[in-house]
Amino acid sequence: MGEQPKLNVVVVGGGTAGWMTAAALAKLLPTRCTVTLVESEAIGIVGVGEATLPHIRGFNERLGINEAEFMAATRATFKLGIEFEGWSRLGDSYIHPFGTFGSGQGDLPFHQYWSRLREQGAAISPLGDYSMAVTMAHMNRFARPDPDPARIESTFNYAYQFDATLFAPFLRTIGEKLGASRIDGRIVDVDLDGESGDVAALRLEDGRRIEGDLFIDCSGFVSLVLGKALGEPFEDWSHWLPCDRAVAMPCRTETPLTPYTSAIAMPSGWRWRIPLQHRTGNGYVYSSSFTDDDVAQSALVGAVEGEGIAEPRVLKFTAGRRTRSWVRNCVAVGLASGFLEPLESTSIYLIQAAISGLVELFPENEISPLDRDEFNRLIDMEYDRIRDFLILHYHATERSDSPFWDYVRTMTVPDTLEEKIELFRRRGRVVKYREGVFLDASWVAVYMGQRIIPEGHDIRGDLPPLDALARSAEALRGEIRAKASRMPDHRSHVEAYCPMAVAA
Ligand code: FAD
Repeated sequence: MGEQPKLNVVVVGGGTAGWMTAAALAKLLPTRCTVTLVESEAIGIVGVGEATLPHIRGFNERLGINEAEFMAATRATFKLGIEFEGWSRLGDSYIHPFGTFGSGQGDLPFHQYWSRLREQGAAISPLGDYSMAVTMAHMNRFARPDPDPARIESTFNYAYQFDATLFAPFLRTIGEKLGASRIDGRIVDVDLDGESGDVAALRLEDGRRIEGDLFIDCSGFVSLVLGKALGEPFEDWSHWLPCDRAVAMPCRTETPLTPYTSAIAMPSGWRWRIPLQHRTGNGYVYSSSFTDDDVAQSALVGAVEGEGIAEPRVLKFTAGRRTRSWVRNCVAVGLASGFLEPLESTSIYLIQAAISGLVELFPENEISPLDRDEFNRLIDMEYDRIRDFLILHYHATERSDSPFWDYVRTMTVPDTLEEKIELFRRRGRVVKYREGVFLDASWVAVYMGQRIIPEGHDIRGDLPPLDALARSAEALRGEIRAKASRMPDHRSHVEAYCPMAVAA
């Protein structure tokens, strides 16, 4: 059999999505495609997006990226989860950890035993006290998970908090070494083939014409190819996720270097705090239907816990996605395909999901409609699940102290979410997923944190005698505390392992 000709892939845009895609294709499919990336330095990148999910570790490993080098280059810290402050009631706080509750062993999830202990009046601590990741986060400790699944130190995972403006340049060096070529130029038009309607070429301001077989649209919110040239409609989900703006402002770090991201509820949205090695990222994500830019900006400036080191910057967006991400010979990755607000740090994960789908379903000589439909099914599933998960944080609130919280508390939510909440409320059951991002423990953390406490429990939780169950829960809590307290302090760990380069 002769060799298949390589496809000429053109990546449109050089932000995080563009360089992640270019580097991955150059690394994983070198015999199937050549990669050319077009970006405009004059336009630049969105440059926010500092918090990630643990899946990014798998992406970096597949690219052969050395973790300490990557963390030093992007001035990264470790992330064990997200702390939500004031979401259910003012004064409430809980952590959504990357990891399980309990020891992660046995058939029944730990929260079922916890629910039984609670129902039957035994002395119990908050659910987070039985999570290794939550306890480490509260103590500001960090160590790598133990590979031995029998040990409690294996029951968590981690991600990174990094400087988003440094990640794309870091990947660019890797992508170019792997053979991806780069063109700097402003795209002013997209040529469609007169007969087939497929994308034929990009036209640059200086007159150059860049032809390709497959176009990966990573052009950001403008969605140059999928949205503008091919006209794929945008499904607007802002009735469920009304936040449509963010004002961002970094500050000096004057608070402890937490191994977690904070999401602090505000009158018309929420505020992020993300500690990096050289600064702390802050931003207020809000709804322009409930407040205006000036009020949001002063609220952010008044709330940050450190001296500001840049002017506040406003970003506008709409929650939702293009109906299909892969249309004809164009696949959109990143903001060009859609956006769900950064509450659970899911955008880079969605980029990764699209890249994995593309690599697995990469066209042979011709694009198969079956592959394209399968890709779109995967992306829809990812978006829909994340959407429901995000809505849960807003809707499951008891707050009525501002028009914004009143709206989200009383709004109608998708049926898919309504059913999930009801199932959990009855007996603590979490809808099972075989694929996708947030698994059981994540849903449990947010349900419980938002005060959706099960009225009953799984009857298998009745097997152990109550006293013995209470004693083993208490022993587990003690073991977790003891193990976490022996781990290094997060800042010391970062400084020893991956200190950022200091300019000479
Ligand atoms: P961009 O960064 O906008 O890149 C677009 C590229 O296309 C650029 O290179 C640009 O120059 C190029 N381009 C555009 N038009 C043209 C043209 N005409 N000619 C040539 N080139 C062109 N994600 C997370 O995972 N975690 C977070 O914590 C997080 N926080 C966020 C907070 C906010 C407020 C926002 C808005 C987003 C956040 N995100 C987060 C999302 C994250 O920033 C993006 O998913 C990520 O940066 C990828 O962006 P992108 O590459 O799709 O687009």
